[in-house]
Amino acid sequence: MKEYKFGVDIDGVILDTYTPWLNILNNLRGTDYCILDVVDYDLKKVFGVPKKQICDMFSCIDDREIELMDPNCPQVIDKLRAEGFMIELITAHIPHVTYCQDDLLASLDKHKINYDRISFVELADHNAKGKLAHLFDYMVDDSSAQVNAMADETKAILYEAPYNIYKSTPKAWARVQTWSRLEHLLLGDILND
Ligand SMILES: [Mg+2]
Repeated sequence: MKEYKFGVDIDGVILDTYTPWLNILNNLRGTDYCILDVVDYDLKKVFGVPKKQICDMFSCIDDREIELMDPNCPQVIDKLRAEGFMIELITAHIPHVTYCQDDLLASLDKHKINYDRISFVELADHNAKGKLAHLFDYMVDDSSAQVNAMADETKAILYEAPYNIYKSTPKAWARVQTWSRLEHLLLGDILND
């Protein structure tokens, strides 16, 4: 069976880390923000929270509160692996900057996310995944900047969210909103390979 290398972002594609962050904000402010209110990546700009506090709040996230972006994600990943996709999770997740690494691994485990490899890249580098893109047949990310950086070297897919739907991704191979759509897209594409 032919093998396909698929690079998958974690936060905002597999795991919803914004909702528990918003829960912390809501507890502090008595508000009821949800993920639809995250209309830009810049949380400082959207919610007026200082950068240091944004990081501190991410580090306070309890892994038991982290849910999937899409409940179908684990089954789709298993199906893709059975069809020859090597799943490499690539994350700009850095211990002590975002929520802790043990929590991340615990969340993946809790949600039965099976994968072949996990790689950590520099959080501040918007081209970090672009530098790796030549290693992959396909990549998916919720950051339009990362998708644009990847798009010359791989089939780059934007996982749509309230904060990126209006962002321009001119060279993206596709944009998806669910893991079922991602499954159909990838399995359809390898049929023609
Ligand atoms: Mg992400």
